[in-house]
Amino acid sequence: MNAVSTYLDHNAGAPIRPAAVEAMVAALAIGGNPSSVHRAGRLARRAIEEAREAVAAQCGAESSEVIFTGGGTEANNLALPGAVRGGHAARLLVSGIEHDSVRAAAGGAGVPVTVLPVDRDGIVDLAELDRLLGEGQGPALVSVMLANNETGVIQPVAEVARVARRHGALVHTDAVQAFGKTLVDFPTLDVDMMSLSAHKIGGPAGVGALVKRAGIDLVPLALGGGQEYGRRPGTENLAGIAGFGAAAKAERRRDLGPLRDRLEREVLAHVPGTRVFGAGAARVDNTSCIGLSGVKAETQVMALDLAGVSIGAGAACSSGKVRPSPVLIAMGEDEETARSAIRVSLGWNSEAADVERFLNAYMEFAGRALKARGLRGEKETHHG
Ligand code: PLP
Repeated sequence: MNAVSTYLDHNAGAPIRPAAVEAMVAALAIGGNPSSVHRAGRLARRAIEEAREAVAAQCGAESSEVIFTGGGTEANNLALPGAVRGGHAARLLVSGIEHDSVRAAAGGAGVPVTVLPVDRDGIVDLAELDRLLGEGQGPALVSVMLANNETGVIQPVAEVARVARRHGALVHTDAVQAFGKTLVDFPTLDVDMMSLSAHKIGGPAGVGALVKRAGIDLVPLALGGGQEYGRRPGTENLAGIAGFGAAAKAERRRDLGPLRDRLEREVLAHVPGTRVFGAGAARVDNTSCIGLSGVKAETQVMALDLAGVSIGAGAACSSGKVRPSPVLIAMGEDEETARSAIRVSLGWNSEAADVERFLNAYMEFAGRALKARGLRGEKETHHG
């Protein structure tokens, strides 16, 4: 990232924090295996346990409840199929706006999966959850994310847990996009399992955690070692875990609301055909999902990239392709609208100047796009 570029895609991956880099370099210098009993091993073990405490402290959990994983995707895959294989669930209920890793993990768990509908603001329907839990057979596991990666909409997860408890169901929440952006307190959420990822808060990619209440016996994804309480076998990613711990420790929730609100106000006031998705709901204050009617998200992303501003397409998947956003479709939008959404996401190093550079580039592009459409429209009328 050079000095002139503006990075507003923190939900895809936040720039790494200097404190995380420092901790990773120090961890690499240890060079030991945390399972060894000698001095290097003990130093490595200490670095891991310090990181575990930092992550636990940042989400109100006990350090014994934190299992380090290879990222948010792996945490979700450990939680859902792991709980099913551990005999805790014979059916899964997942919201219609979950990240691909939850959908896919649920689909591959070998039990029936029910999709919970959301309203036009992207909020899960609690009455429907109550009804579905009441009519199904066998122990259930409900998975509802805390904050959505595309819209930032916050789900009433503590209420989901209350409804689920009434039916004896377990609850998992994917808190990957909420961690560091809104209060994430494991005991208050009252869930059984919660997924986190380091690279969304300024730690390295490829490391995350599943926070899990004692008593839930998950079957691990891999076999062959006792690391991470036997739930994640294999020699630990010491540098990654240390970087995650340092990023968690450095995390101070910033009030990004004024920057995000200014961005949205200007866009809505000056560019006809724009909309902010999920604006009627509580959202994390770093995320804006903005539709520009009739203009594909990838066109917008490329134009802004040429102007030195990095943003996300609302529904870019991991292959880099842009598809109609399943999140916006679940919120009742049509396919064309769901293809027009960009995501602007701020983070720990965002400044007012970044928002200004985005606004200049966006207004300039939107002006051109709307003019081109106007000209095309005129031609069509002439021919028509
Ligand atoms: N869950 C959500 C809501 C996400 O946004 C992401 C990443 O985009 C993940 C899970 C996956 O996390 P990771 O990239 O660490 O595998």
